[in-house]
Amino acid sequence: MKTLRKDGANEECSEQVKILLYIYRKTLNHFGDPMWWPGEGAWEIAVGAILTQNTSWTNVEKAISRMKSLGIFTPEEIMRSDEGSIAHAIRPSGYYNQKAKKLRFLAAWVLREFDGDLKKARERDLKSLQKEILNLWGVGQETADSILLYALDLPVFVVDRYTIRILTRFGLPLSPNYEKAVSEVKNLVEGWNKNVQFLNRLHALFVLTGKEYCKARPFCDRCPLREKCHTAKSLLEEGF
Ligand code: SF4
Repeated sequence: MKTLRKDGANEECSEQVKILLYIYRKTLNHFGDPMWWPGEGAWEIAVGAILTQNTSWTNVEKAISRMKSLGIFTPEEIMRSDEGSIAHAIRPSGYYNQKAKKLRFLAAWVLREFDGDLKKARERDLKSLQKEILNLWGVGQETADSILLYALDLPVFVVDRYTIRILTRFGLPLSPNYEKAVSEVKNLVEGWNKNVQFLNRLHALFVLTGKEYCKARPFCDRCPLREKCHTAKSLLEEGF
């Protein structure tokens, strides 16, 4: 994929922006406004971003509800508890030993840097904040970006496997290396539109499309994107 210029003058870039706009409009019209992310306040959203790794949202909700009822939820409560008790509280979310450790690293950082109030992180420079979150134990790009966008309302685009799959099937020339492809898509979207509400919706719409239609075996015949998607066109020509 060519380097994409922020001013949109690059022809390839503007073609790709047109594709993104098409995807956004079609899926918004199809699914309606997704109104993400469920969660009360910045801390709960950040906890959800850790717990949602490799599990369904229903399990995250169960885990958060158990954390609250056991009094192991706020950064202070988490730091007062041992990893075993946290793991017990978040058991429904799966991978609970690892996630308990991640929550302790996140809670310690929030207490140390922001006196327990994650919202204060908004006062930091975005680039250094991104680095700090990525340096926390067990926090990868997607989780860090989810915290920045959904918990802190900062202009960051969250790219997940559904996004890469859909854009690749659309014919965007993304790198075959997943990490590189993620950063190509982030550069493209963030260089084009920094509106938080838009970024929030766009990610949610990619996830909904991926879960509903663009699965490992795609259901193009019902997908709202079929008219302009390269993969849908070739499947149609092959008679699928
Ligand atoms: S038309 Fe098919 S391949 Fe294209 S995004 Fe939809 S489900 Fe995926």
